[in-house]
Amino acid sequence: MGTILIVEDDKSLNRGISLVFGQDGMNILQAYELKTARELFAASRVDLIILDVGLPDGSGLDFCKAVRASSSVPIIFLTANDMEADIVMGFELGGDDYITKPFSLMVLRARVMAALRRAKAGGDSRVAVGDMIFDFDRMEFSKNGKAMQLTKTEQKLLRKLVANRGSILTREQLMEDLYPNESKFVDENALTVAIGRLRGKLEDDPANPLFIKTVYGLGYICAGTAE
Ligand code: CA
Repeated sequence: MGTILIVEDDKSLNRGISLVFGQDGMNILQAYELKTARELFAASRVDLIILDVGLPDGSGLDFCKAVRASSSVPIIFLTANDMEADIVMGFELGGDDYITKPFSLMVLRARVMAALRRAKAGGDSRVAVGDMIFDFDRMEFSKNGKAMQLTKTEQKLLRKLVANRGSILTREQLMEDLYPNESKFVDENALTVAIGRLRGKLEDDPANPLFIKTVYGLGYICAGTAE
């Protein structure tokens, strides 16, 4: 079923969360501070991280940043009620979702399940397409043997497109995937810009894309069929 790393210094909250997911048959790793979180993450295969922002030995935001240097594992932040800046920062650092304290454990459970489903729908972590190789877990991308740097947004977008090769993805679907629960507030132009950047890196002729094609009035389609 998967392994969840819970990083939360409130011991009873940490325990409550672990009980909920334990009942779902998940493997649970618990950390009450960053030091243990780092050790557990380095030593285990983790499928999702539930991450408090304020921890006794530092900020969960820093841990998120460190994790994102090597992994695209889903991260859900637990944020204090009045900390809008933390939420914004969390998304900028590559967090997938957030939930504001106090929250219902059932709502957290629904958010976690949705994030796990999205990650799974992301498909295989290593995909070869023509002269391109995408390794989403290791965040290594190459074309003709030459490494490419992709931003977190570009990686998410590419993963979704590649997992659905041959099927049209609407702009709404892609926006919701890129900005879960926030898509209504994000300028739709952000998607057009991200697609443009991705084409600039992947296509032989970005002005005449063969890999990520526009379906006018609807969305985009990634050429080929899903393996
Ligand atoms: Ca805390």
